[in-house]
Amino acid sequence: MKPLSELVRPNIWKLEPYSSARDEYSGHEAHVFLDANESPHNAPYNRYPDPLQRELKKKLGERKGVNPENIFLGNGSDEAIDLVYRCFTEPRKDNVVAIAPTYGMYKVCADVNDVEYRSVLLDDHFQMSAKALLAATNAHTKVIWMCSPNNPTGNHLQQEEIETVLRSFEGIVVLDEAYADFSSRRSFRHRLAEFPNLIVLQTFSKALASAGVRLGMAFASKEIISIFNKVKYPYNVNILTQKYASQFLDDRDTIDRNLSNILKERGLLQQALSTLPYCQKVYPSDANFFLVRVNEAQRVYDYLVEMGIIVRNRSRVQMCDNCLRITIGSRSENNELIGAMRNFK
Ligand SMILES: *Cc1c(COP(=O)(O)O)cnc(C)c1O
Repeated sequence: MKPLSELVRPNIWKLEPYSSARDEYSGHEAHVFLDANESPHNAPYNRYPDPLQRELKKKLGERKGVNPENIFLGNGSDEAIDLVYRCFTEPRKDNVVAIAPTYGMYKVCADVNDVEYRSVLLDDHFQMSAKALLAATNAHTKVIWMCSPNNPTGNHLQQEEIETVLRSFEGIVVLDEAYADFSSRRSFRHRLAEFPNLIVLQTFSKALASAGVRLGMAFASKEIISIFNKVKYPYNVNILTQKYASQFLDDRDTIDRNLSNILKERGLLQQALSTLPYCQKVYPSDANFFLVRVNEAQRVYDYLVEMGIIVRNRSRVQMCDNCLRITIGSRSENNELIGAMRNFK
């Protein structure tokens, strides 16, 4: 890996971060806070949240087996995705390389930040070739984007190929593991010490069933995390979200039950759809969704909309022609989908 001082944008490397009122006192017990122009009324919401979310990171660190100083928390993974561009890429000069098809936000954030986005198509089994990704890089490539299990294809990428990219590429490698909890593979977040250029993304939005509270996680070296911390908005995760997430993590039983329920439903739904005559292929999945290739995706999609059922038509995505992406719902939602699809003519 190149030294971080060469990978980080020069203005960010030099940046003096905003110092909040509460950053400045430390080491003393205090009970009168007249430093931040907050209201004395309406506790606890009158106070600014902890900018570094220490309590939540401590709990999350235990749960995830990661040191709190290796965790960044943001307003969804989307915040971390955007921060990767803002910290590491110089607009109109640097570029990034990503697998395709994959999650759309990597490209949107590249466009917003005016950074060239190079995509490298997966093979027929939706697998990535480390060699092909590396071949698409040049001296201005700062970041490689991978997503495993991948969206919209649903499969995990081969571990050896991911490792090859991590070892061979001198810049930053982001591995988006938004769906890792649905997969049997071991998360790369346990291997930060081995790969100093690795950023692993996870989220509360999928297996942790909390898309509405907007909480995303990045796991990386403490040097990379401190760069994120200095660029992020000071109070990027609000009090309500921090409290909620902290309490939610205590309820391990519910989290585990929700997860195993979705895995069971995934099998049932895939099985049911694979028997339909117009379904050409139900793709295997390591996530809480799967692709199904049908005869006429647009017609099936429109029909389902008529029935009040919304799935994602991915027909226009490269390699996904005539594919619908179906999220695993509750037993009754899934049964409604199966019933409707059986009646499609
Ligand atoms: C859903 C999803 C996310 C989650 O984004 P949030 O902003 O945390 O809700 C991240 N990456 C991928 C690949 C996803 O599919």
